[in-house]
Amino acid sequence: MEGKLEAICIIPERYNTDRFGTFSGEIERDADAITTLRKKINTALDEFNVDVGIGSEGSFGPHPFLPLTPADEELVMLIDRKNNFEIGATYLTEETNYTQRIIHTIEELKQFADAVQFPSHALIAKTEEGIVIKKGIDNWHDLLQIATRQDLGRNALCVETDMRAMHNPTRMKAIEKATQLLMDKILTTCPNCDAPGFEVKEKIQGLSCSWCGTPTQLVKSLIRKCWRCQHTVIEEKIEKAPPQYCEVCNP
Ligand SMILES: [Zn+2]
Ligand SMILES: [Zn+2]
Repeated sequence: MEGKLEAICIIPERYNTDRFGTFSGEIERDADAITTLRKKINTALDEFNVDVGIGSEGSFGPHPFLPLTPADEELVMLIDRKNNFEIGATYLTEETNYTQRIIHTIEELKQFADAVQFPSHALIAKTEEGIVIKKGIDNWHDLLQIATRQDLGRNALCVETDMRAMHNPTRMKAIEKATQLLMDKILTTCPNCDAPGFEVKEKIQGLSCSWCGTPTQLVKSLIRKCWRCQHTVIEEKIEKAPPQYCEVCNP
């Protein structure tokens, strides 16, 4: 990333991002992902006195299109306060181990841990009432010790996947994908003024059917617009829509 941006990156130490919300629920995120991410980046720019910042924010929950499937949506953003612009990219994937379960026996605990790729992916243990016992559990010794102390069998244990990126390699991969998308956007520059982030701002539907020419729901053109000089480019697709998307050929 540093090379591509010709920039020197500083990773802020001791920057407490828990104040913007935690996955384990002690601090609820009080706004949507994009608002929270802007706040996280802008606060860091203030605290470390720099002009440009990149940050990420993940959201976990039910997949928006696939029923009964958990999803990870990663948002990454660059904010440049000197030139007054922001560029963001999102990556949505069902590749996540995000889940939780109430555990009653060691056998259940072992099954759960295996299913969520423990110990390469860390766990959080809570009481049944939701009080955090330990986060970032990354070895069997600690996990079994907690189960013993909690007197599993008499008491239940609530175990969930630790979604903090450094404890979750699957999430790390998703953030990497989102970051690649962001880099592609940043490095697409305006042909008129060379500003970074010459983004697609609008998609127009109506790609015509390859058999009968009727407009379909598929995208026929992309409109890119420069945030700085307003230069606009319309990219028309050359291909035609397959007939299965056509209301006439495939009603
Ligand atoms: Zn421009
Ligand atoms: Zn047709």
